[in-house]
Amino acid sequence: MTGGRPPAKPPVEEPFKHVIDQYRHRAQEVTCTCGWRGSSASTDGFNSEWKAHLAANRGGARR
Ligand SMILES: [Zn+2]
Repeated sequence: MTGGRPPAKPPVEEPFKHVIDQYRHRAQEVTCTCGWRGSSASTDGFNSEWKAHLAANRGGARR
């Protein structure tokens, strides 16, 4: 029988980061490093398409 030793740390993989690649000030439009494009304009001071994109890609916070 194997001793049930937990495997060593999983290989470290840098998570892909979604960051602003380009920002068009006039249109308030963001281009993400992943190619996503959307508005960073906020209607309520908190939410925007850009933030939703970040939240959607942050991933896995659900349990
Ligand atoms: Zn992205």
